[in-house]
Amino acid sequence: MIDSYGRRITYLRLSVTERCNLRCRYCMPEEGICQKDCSEMLTEDEMIAAVQAAASLGITKLRITGGEPLVKRNIVSICRRACAVPGIQDVAVTTNGLALPALAKPLRQAGVNRVNISLDTLDPEKYRHITRIGRLDQALAGIRAALDAGFDKVKINVVLIGGFNDDEIVPLANLTREYPVDVRFIELMPMNSSPEFGPAAYLPSRIVLEQLPDASALPESDGVARLYRLPGALGSIGLISPVSNHFCAQCNRIRLTADGKLKPCLHSAVEYPVKGLSSAEMLEQFRRTIGSKPEKHELLSALHPSQAGRMMNQIGG
Ligand code: SAM
Ligand code: SF4
Repeated sequence: MIDSYGRRITYLRLSVTERCNLRCRYCMPEEGICQKDCSEMLTEDEMIAAVQAAASLGITKLRITGGEPLVKRNIVSICRRACAVPGIQDVAVTTNGLALPALAKPLRQAGVNRVNISLDTLDPEKYRHITRIGRLDQALAGIRAALDAGFDKVKINVVLIGGFNDDEIVPLANLTREYPVDVRFIELMPMNSSPEFGPAAYLPSRIVLEQLPDASALPESDGVARLYRLPGALGSIGLISPVSNHFCAQCNRIRLTADGKLKPCLHSAVEYPVKGLSSAEMLEQFRRTIGSKPEKHELLSALHPSQAGRMMNQIGG
């Protein structure tokens, strides 16, 4: 379906849970979240009905996210059923990777094409600091498991944080020399959940290039990422700049939260509930959501945080 600004909407990000086995400082509060009653959350059947409604309106690409999607007990079944929905051509999972040693192969067998694994540092102590409770060796084991499982693509998502990992741009980028992975540097977004980050934490992604003088620009694009490659590297480097250079004009996505709210825009509080609706009503809510996508969101900064009205783990980043 085409929205009011001529953008073809082909991409649904489906959050399957708000829960997580980490507590990343930019995403979630230390104490975790107040767990909602099961009855408020979408069931597996409702998620699949939503994917069917989305596909009937021209959605071809699905990303399964959270919270941490791999803590969801029925994640493999959700993925298998979502991959089988007619019209869905590409299914990716975004994960912190901790559960991939057990789940990479089952997810691949379920039909998942691609995985994105979040990794903001290669230093075990810094990893523990940013995730508050995580172990780097477990995340690295997850990356290895994803590579062994034979996905079409494995990407590493790095949130760029001034004063935290801007001294690790080179080693993180060098992962593309050693392994067939793409590394994406993503600008930190000022969400309500990240009050501890001051203005200095918000770095424009172009600083990545200052530290990689031998990176050359690639002609192809990959959704919203600008792509580069280091000489001889196996994978690409991507810059994703939601703050310094927002990509609203190319936005082709909508989001469905784990508690059943369709969001036309990540940074707006406008939501359309789908929980408990019939297939016809659900389809109508998808039409409304796409029809009400705003032209763009407000510019974000440390002083002007997102108006999403939710923490990132409750949206599905
Ligand atoms: N738990 C999974 C993970 O960490 O990959 C999936 C959910 S997480 C919310 C999805 C992505 O959002 C992760 O790559 C995470 O680093 C990113 N993210 C979370 N909060 C963010 C923020 N404030 N700014 C930029 N990216 C953020
Ligand atoms: Fe969990 Fe992902 Fe948020 Fe980290 S970024 S707290 S792993 S949902």
